[in-house]
Amino acid sequence: MKLPIYLDYQATTPVDPRVLEAMLPYFHDVFGNAASRSHAFGWKAEEAVELAREQVAALIGAAGKEIIFTSGSTEAINLALKGAAEMYASKGKHLITSLAEHKAVLDTCKHLEKLGYEVTYLKPDRTARISPEQVRSALRPDTLLVSVMWANNEVGTLNPIREIGAVCREQGTLLFTDATQAVGKVPVDVEADHVDLLCLSAHKIYGPKGVGALYVRRKNPRVRLAAQMDGGGHERGMRSGTLNVPGIVGLGQACEFARLELADESRRCAELRDHLESRIRNELGYVELNGHPEQRLPGNLNLSFHFVEGESLIMGISDVAVSSGSACTSASLEPSHVLRAMDVGEDLAHSSIRFGIGRFTTRAEVDYAADAVVKAVRRLREMSPLYELAQEGVDLKTIQWQANH
Ligand code: PLP
Repeated sequence: MKLPIYLDYQATTPVDPRVLEAMLPYFHDVFGNAASRSHAFGWKAEEAVELAREQVAALIGAAGKEIIFTSGSTEAINLALKGAAEMYASKGKHLITSLAEHKAVLDTCKHLEKLGYEVTYLKPDRTARISPEQVRSALRPDTLLVSVMWANNEVGTLNPIREIGAVCREQGTLLFTDATQAVGKVPVDVEADHVDLLCLSAHKIYGPKGVGALYVRRKNPRVRLAAQMDGGGHERGMRSGTLNVPGIVGLGQACEFARLELADESRRCAELRDHLESRIRNELGYVELNGHPEQRLPGNLNLSFHFVEGESLIMGISDVAVSSGSACTSASLEPSHVLRAMDVGEDLAHSSIRFGIGRFTTRAEVDYAADAVVKAVRRLREMSPLYELAQEGVDLKTIQWQANH
């Protein structure tokens, strides 16, 4: 077994060697500009881009023409939210989202608030879920867009997007979903799920970093967006800039493999995830699952360990790569905004660890990680006076701590 072991598949994934192989010709041999209409170099590049467009579309039940290539989900989110806000401002200036969204959504909403838009932030339940009823009661005649993520990147909880989509459709309001973590892991069908806008990112599904896509519905209803990147009018005028042909080829291939292997891979990841969870639970007490017990991503396991500080645990299992809080914000020691919104409580939020299992994870690696976690948690708890008290049967909530003078 090669160390360190990578169990952080929600942060990013390695490029699948089959994807890499498909990309390689497009760096040197087939290097044309996909917008060059006057020669074979351009036509070949364009052909590859159009194949990728179909491959991306097939994974989510869309048509190729509805796919806009971007530099990743962050850009797609900015285009969807700002583009819709600008285009539909005459309908109203109200948006609905949730407190558990990725920062790319939350910070874009904050930006829109500065421009005079009003945003309702729905509070998720204890499992990080948003209900269709919450969306229904927040909708107003001036709501231009609802933005609810499909799968949460920290705790893996899946939202009932189909039901939320039905509510939005009934009210005639557009639904955008950040499906960065869901696409390729759970079935997604923009028609059946009533989704109008959706983002995805190649580096979460074994494709390269720096490329992603925005799905923009073309009929029933036809969604229009104000471009946020002006220039040569690429991507139906919604996103100018010379296309990243090798990256787009990689995204297309990544989607193709994800579609063909989704069922088997999800089953395998869920089995490994359940194995990791049961090993840890069987060998340690005082472990809490963060997120929903059933409605969650197959490869995600977010656990909190009482009497243990997450950062210390991460250092204690240094040859197992996991994450505490969101990968994008874990440079700060602030507890994650998602766990906060779920009311997990400061202590447990500080002791949360996200294990991410993926395509290349083996059972031996999971066993190694379980051994390492059990050993490190036991060692850290031995040093915890609170754990000692709990072992003696003292209910920590009843302790009257002496005030510090
Ligand atoms: N949304 C979610 C749920 C994510 O997990 C991520 C990745 O961290 C993003 C958005 C941002 O994606 P990208 O890295 O493609 O900009």
